Amino acid sequence: MQRSLTASLAAMVLLLACSCAGLGPTVGRDTVSQTSTITALLEGCYDGVETCGALKERGDLGIGTFDRLDGEMILLDGAVYQARADGAVLRAPDSARVPFASVTRFGTPPMKVLGACGDLDALKAKLDALRPEGGNLFYAIRVEGVFDRVKFRSVPAQTKPYPKLTEVAARQPVFEKSGIRGTLVGFWCPEYAKTLNLAGYHLHFISDDRKSGGHLLGCTLREGWAAAEAKHELRLNLPRNEAFLDVRIGGGAAADSALKAAESGK
Ligand SMILES: [Zn+2]
Repeated sequence: MQRSLTASLAAMVLLLACSCAGLGPTVGRDTVSQTSTITALLEGCYDGVETCGALKERGDLGIGTFDRLDGEMILLDGAVYQARADGAVLRAPDSARVPFASVTRFGTPPMKVLGACGDLDALKAKLDALRPEGGNLFYAIRVEGVFDRVKFRSVPAQTKPYPKLTEVAARQPVFEKSGIRGTLVGFWCPEYAKTLNLAGYHLHFISDDRKSGGHLLGCTLREGWAAAEAKHELRLNLPRNEAFLDVRIGGGAAADSALKAAESGK
């Protein structure tokens, strides 16, 4: 265990690229490419700093949000979808900009049968079993299935001066669908990365008909299949706009509880 921990930490390469043009398109399958940090988003850094076209050069699976916080982003099989707060799901053009996103190359790894999951905690427990390497790596996650119930939210576009994410989340539209086939897309991030991204599972839902989607809040899975893929490299692309340079990005317990409020819908 000690050996695998040491190997995991040694293998992780954290690249701090200060230019938004700094990440080249040639990233490997073992890389998670991230735009900005979840703690900057929490503080209201909502101006888009990278294009969807640039994200697609670095991955075929991912999640994030859009310029001005205009909806939830889902990158699935190389296509970027914008799940808006009015309930509409649109194909985002390559020119659309994002303030925060995580993407990776996932391809089509074999899916394992999950069976039924009574709630999101039960689903998480089954996904945990697909991460045998333990808690120190990043994982890309894909779940396909039929949902007896799925609850998700989106966020509406904001105007300046931008409110903090907790204020937006307190008014977020929540949607619920029954008997719907769809896909969950996202990541599991280790606890030590919680100032960069959400620790634990962060999943977005999109229906097979591409008409419903958003940030997952809860679900009952009738039947499903899943794949999780460990990632050893994190490439972090930090914004160079003034909002990011000027904002005070906190951490610690205050950020923890704010993130829980903003991302769990509670
Ligand atoms: Zn989300």
